Amino acid sequence: MTNPREKESSGEGRALQLPLRRLLTLAAQARRRMREGASFASALDAEAADLPPNARAALQSILYDLLRSKALVEALTRRLLESPPPGPVLGLIEAALALLVARRYSDFTLVSEAVNAARAGRRTTRFAGLVNAVLRRFLREREPLLALCRRTPEVRFNAPAWWIERVRAAHPDEWESILSIAAHHAPMTLRVNVRRTTPEAYLERLAAAGIAARRVGPEAVLLGKPLPVQEIPGFTEGDVSVQDAGTQLAAHLLPVAPGDRVLDACAAPGGKTAHILERTDCRVTALEVDPERAELIRSTLSRLGLSAEVRAADAARTEEWWTGEPFDAVLLDAPCTASGIVRRQPDVPWSRRPEDIRRLAAEQKRLLDALWPCLRRGGKLLFCTCSIFPEEGPRQIEGFLARRPDARLVPLRADGAGMMSLIPTESGDWSPSDELPAVHDGFFYALLEKR
Ligand code: SAM
Repeated sequence: MTNPREKESSGEGRALQLPLRRLLTLAAQARRRMREGASFASALDAEAADLPPNARAALQSILYDLLRSKALVEALTRRLLESPPPGPVLGLIEAALALLVARRYSDFTLVSEAVNAARAGRRTTRFAGLVNAVLRRFLREREPLLALCRRTPEVRFNAPAWWIERVRAAHPDEWESILSIAAHHAPMTLRVNVRRTTPEAYLERLAAAGIAARRVGPEAVLLGKPLPVQEIPGFTEGDVSVQDAGTQLAAHLLPVAPGDRVLDACAAPGGKTAHILERTDCRVTALEVDPERAELIRSTLSRLGLSAEVRAADAARTEEWWTGEPFDAVLLDAPCTASGIVRRQPDVPWSRRPEDIRRLAAEQKRLLDALWPCLRRGGKLLFCTCSIFPEEGPRQIEGFLARRPDARLVPLRADGAGMMSLIPTESGDWSPSDELPAVHDGFFYALLEKR
């Protein structure tokens, strides 16, 4: 057996138990499922059903590599194959090409494990020669082939043309950098639990453990290299959680006083619920429409020693869960296209359809309209999405303000700007006088007060 993670830098696949050939076979099968219409999550779940957590993480890492170079790999296979081979063979070639492009393993290891994977499969064995020939040809012609394929915007930005056009239209000055960052690996940011320690003390603890890290926000610490959570000092004890620095702003932007009744309307897995409770002793009701995901809120809170009323319910159907007692503060972290977190979820541009933007914006509107009556007069509602599309940000809020004369936009920026649109960033320094974190995903915030 080879050492399949020899060049792994993300830490996602530590202590691997499966040989690379087996992982390649599973990745090829998951790729075939996705090509036939399955979502990334269901394809991964189906192939990883019997795997231990570390092997599942390794498989996910390979599939992420595949998605991060999906357009390139497809362009390469069109050039390298005269006609498409059966699905399992094509999937194997695609997975191997993605890993060769990402330079995760030595070329020799990769090709020989891909050929072994082909030989081992009933439906792929007679194509082992083809797999070998295609991968070797790629290695011989790598640079000119890559240059040729990268001429199209779809390959350069690894996204469908409609997605690229939407990003360009929404952000005419920043679209190229937004799309380029989306193709990179996501940084790993921690949220320091201020009930248990301080960012300064935690940074010292990391330094003592030989883990490079720096501060990128009030409670946000960016690790030099992602680590499995079990290897993060104090994670199990609840000293830190994993949370992007941009989303950590939610608990700062929503004013909550001790004893307040707070509604977190779309709460799973509970990152923001927990952050609010870490900062203030308040009474939180956390809703989540998906009962399995509601359990994630419970386990997040239990790890951190916090408590909230957790309910599985559709937040918009207030008649099913609301007692009629108004809330002092409401957080609506609404379902969205996730266009601001593509580097974290590389399947997003490929799994979305153009009509999803309008469908999700309509769902956000339904939630906003239904939850507004639950807020007391003088109370505040923070609306946020991890999207960079205006329909799920400024346009949504402008529409709401036009419908609701009793709603007022509260400025979020020192310069008086009412809404906050964060564009993904991957470098920069932070100091306590900064309004925004240094490194963050794409995110949108608007704070509404009820008059
Ligand atoms: N606030 C969470 C955190 O910080 O960990 C992330 C929330 S995620 C963006 C949106 C969540 O809303 C998903 O878990 C989704 O299942 C849930 N959701 C979607 N529609 C909902 C609805 N109508 N009522 C309640 N939850 C809903």
